[in-house]
Amino acid sequence: MAANAHHDFFKASQTAIGDLELRRKLEMATGRHLDHVAAMRAEFPSFDAERDIARQIKQEAIARLDDLLIELKEKLEANGCKVFVASDAAMARSYIVELARVRGVKKVVKGKSMTTEEIELNPALEEAGIDAVETDLGEYIVQLRGEKPSHIITPAIHLSKEDIGKTFSDRLSVPYTAQPEQLTALARERLRAMFLTAEMGITGVNFAIAETGTLVLVENEGNGRMSSTLPEILVAIMGIEKVIPRLDDLPHFLEILARSATGQKLTCYTNFINGPRRDGDLDGPSEVHVLMLDNGRSRILADTVLREALYCVRCGACLNVCPVYRRIGGHAYGATYSGPIGAVISPNFFGSAAAQLPFASTLCGACRDICPVKINIPRLLLHMRWKENLGLGAPQVTFSRHGAKARSGIGRIARLASRPWLMRLMLKAGAVLARPFAREGYLKWVPGPFASWTRERDFPALRGH
Ligand code: SF4
Repeated sequence: MAANAHHDFFKASQTAIGDLELRRKLEMATGRHLDHVAAMRAEFPSFDAERDIARQIKQEAIARLDDLLIELKEKLEANGCKVFVASDAAMARSYIVELARVRGVKKVVKGKSMTTEEIELNPALEEAGIDAVETDLGEYIVQLRGEKPSHIITPAIHLSKEDIGKTFSDRLSVPYTAQPEQLTALARERLRAMFLTAEMGITGVNFAIAETGTLVLVENEGNGRMSSTLPEILVAIMGIEKVIPRLDDLPHFLEILARSATGQKLTCYTNFINGPRRDGDLDGPSEVHVLMLDNGRSRILADTVLREALYCVRCGACLNVCPVYRRIGGHAYGATYSGPIGAVISPNFFGSAAAQLPFASTLCGACRDICPVKINIPRLLLHMRWKENLGLGAPQVTFSRHGAKARSGIGRIARLASRPWLMRLMLKAGAVLARPFAREGYLKWVPGPFASWTRERDFPALRGH
């Protein structure tokens, strides 16, 4: 599911919103995240200053993206890495599958990586007869269930510990328990065997430092470190926007990333990968492949308004705070990236399959306020809607179905609004017609194009003046 072409966001969100148990789990988990984040921000007075610095660095990095990627590639190669640039998901998949085939790889351990979800790597590996196991606990759980992550940093946010206990007992044939310590121990035992026997590790990249050719991977479980050091071959996959200019820039991101993601001062592990194992090193892979993925990012870069979306450090805070995401969860979006930032980037990565998502927002601005790099997400969502309504989507993005309806509706409103006497007459007539049905100034049901509004909430009755 990079994005499912047959998925209807509006239908899926209606179903999700009716699932009270799902809403309870989401409210609880996202609420806990927000409390931790608020506490951590309050005890770190420089947080806002660090946000400004991080944003400036991202601004510079995206403005100089070409040069920085060339510098990064040269430094990585000088460090002994092999670098491959993939313009789309198919190219990225086939590079990894072919590499695994040529090297005779049968088992792969994967560190957490939304980019591998984006390119739908697991089904491709499976088709090639390669056993790929997710080693991040949340990812492992959703993989066992045959699901996709429902959050960019908390993949199993939609599940309770009882759900996880049942999943383990069904899929791993172990006695049921809902004790988190026992569940974690079970997963650790299963995964350890995989770490020790896998020939290839695949991880994502949080930051790639152009100056030194260093890949930085932040995580909490140590599975990223194991995936990147134990197997003989490492493939690190990064979106091209992950590059930052200098080593000295990194601390500014580390100050804000964990604080925004989980409310920690720092993640438990910060891994630095410079290249393959050198003589005298105790561990590490003998081959490191770095896959730089475009897959729609250049399209975002070319749009001077949207470009800001490439500053995202994938902390997940905008999902946790979004009133839409908190009620429906990630699966309802039908795309790898959900929530406010997902609604901006997914149509650019996955085309028309995700075209409804820019409309999945109330534009309340909470995402902009919490974003550690101050991305003005509501502005970007409005820009995406504007593009859709004008049919200005990029070639891959066909917005026609939704756009045509919206265009004709807006055209009718514009014709009405440009004749004030007609507008007044319509409002007066509407107020008279609505009066018998109004209760305390609101209508429980309205017909026609506004019917979907009253499915979920009341509509203010027209007052006629
Ligand atoms: S847009 Fe901002 S808040 Fe949302 S995931 Fe990206 S960095 Fe975090």
